[in-house]
Amino acid sequence: MTNTYTQKAWSLNSLYPSPDGAEIKAAFKDLETQTAEFEKKRPLLTEKISRAELISIIEALESIYRIGHRVASYAELWFSANTQNQDALGMVMRTEQLVSELSNRTLFFSLWWKDLPDEFAQPLMEGTGDFHYWLEEMRHFKPHTLTEPEEKIINTKNVTGVNALGTLYDSITNRYVYKVEVEGEVKELTRGELMSLVRSTDPDLRARAYQELYRVYGDDASILGQMYQTIVRDWRNEEVTLRKYQTPISARNLANDLPDEVIETLLETCRQNTGVFERFFKLKAKLIGMEKLRRYDIYAPVAKADKPYEYPRAAAKVLESFSNFDPRFAQLAERVFAEDHLDSEVRKGKRGGAFCATVNPDITPWVLLNYQGKADDVATMAHELGHAIHSMLAEHHSLFTQHANLPLAETASTFGEMMLVDQMLAEETDEAVRRDLLFRQVDDAYATIQRQAFFALFEKQAHQMVIDGASVDEISEAYMENLKTQFGDAVEVAEEFKYEWVSIPHIYQVPFYVYAYTFGQLLVLALYKRFKAEGESFKPKYIRLLSAGGSEAPMKLLDEAGVDVRKAAFWQGGFDVLSEMVDKLEKIA
Ligand SMILES: [Zn+2]
Repeated sequence: MTNTYTQKAWSLNSLYPSPDGAEIKAAFKDLETQTAEFEKKRPLLTEKISRAELISIIEALESIYRIGHRVASYAELWFSANTQNQDALGMVMRTEQLVSELSNRTLFFSLWWKDLPDEFAQPLMEGTGDFHYWLEEMRHFKPHTLTEPEEKIINTKNVTGVNALGTLYDSITNRYVYKVEVEGEVKELTRGELMSLVRSTDPDLRARAYQELYRVYGDDASILGQMYQTIVRDWRNEEVTLRKYQTPISARNLANDLPDEVIETLLETCRQNTGVFERFFKLKAKLIGMEKLRRYDIYAPVAKADKPYEYPRAAAKVLESFSNFDPRFAQLAERVFAEDHLDSEVRKGKRGGAFCATVNPDITPWVLLNYQGKADDVATMAHELGHAIHSMLAEHHSLFTQHANLPLAETASTFGEMMLVDQMLAEETDEAVRRDLLFRQVDDAYATIQRQAFFALFEKQAHQMVIDGASVDEISEAYMENLKTQFGDAVEVAEEFKYEWVSIPHIYQVPFYVYAYTFGQLLVLALYKRFKAEGESFKPKYIRLLSAGGSEAPMKLLDEAGVDVRKAAFWQGGFDVLSEMVDKLEKIA
């Protein structure tokens, strides 16, 4: 592993040599032929179908999706590399349309499968190997599925009902313009631009940005709140009254294939651990020279180190930390570099942030970074390569079972980041760098674990309040109480934050989605604690967990890894890791 790593753009050649060459044209043609063939199989879908026929139909479907993913990913990656490229944008739109047509034309398979009575489905499923969990999971919703005419009515009415309300919420809030004085000049900003100001070093500017955000949302709070009340009632009527889920959150839990009591325990443990982040925020106040942190300041920058990590050194460091855990991890990550699937340059027009894109099980994933040499960027590299390793460990699975379920999707990425940070903390002599690394970890943990957990706790409460007839003002008051519980005496929360909830699209569009972030991140911290305690004996269990991808139920995988997510003590382990990080910060800050 003595390669030199240079910062460059990626190559998409292993997908197609060019966006308009013969290969890609052939792919489009193939897609059409295979889909037409697939449609002809429809008459085979009866109770009398043999297992061999069933498997061959699934394989035909998988083959269609493999081609679909290749062309759509090509467009998506090409566009990410240069968002100013109109040809790439055109191809993105064309392939999106194509994939949506494909799924419509092949939808009859999953509809048939979900509807098939248990007595036929159960024996068919046995012996389907890697497809088993995928087939099983599709049928989870069967007990909550209504008759076909009822489902049709719900679908039809949803288009102009709750879905239209969701779109309306987007349309209204996307039009908002924010006016903030920046460097003596009043600027008109989008929400994205406005939110970048809350990370400014100027405390007044941070405050002005939030005040403007909630002035705008506050002006419309009564109407946005009313929309929320309607969405919540619709959710209750459909999920609880008609589909017979026990509670409003149960419908989401089933989608994540997690039992209600696990999520209950998770959220309760978060509620009991507000102290960790309160200590962190008190420390942050001290570091930015404030008596007490205001809610305006929670994203204030504290980075101190100015020593950049040169790219080759960063890459070597990340690979070394993977290798220290298991040489195979480093070899897999090396593949991303060796095949030129990594775009790390900072270029005009390139998509910001970072991601890892897995196209198909038979191709090495692509990773996009905007590497600028900060300790933060090194951690991001470990995170995204962690995603790639997760995919590659599961590359022996089918397209339908390679990807880990949502609650497990961040496991390898966050774990990879933890390993790297640990190693850098052990080696790094520069206190400023150590401090920056730890701050980043706890900052991220706040945003992905605790903030999301408190949104979910609020959603649970708000769903009940709406049914009990609460007004928008009463819900806003409850939201304020939620913030006060979360921040205790560590953070001063200004009055306008009571309108924050009407500004969170997730709670409108995908109720109870947010806890998946909490679950995923806290799970990894708790796993990391197990690794520290168990050492070598932990590794095979962990590697098995990752290699399973999405081929088994999350609870089964976690059970096999010896992890009991039903127990509060397990989740507490995650907070213990965070608490130790805050201890370290208190010593060096
Ligand atoms: Zn991630």
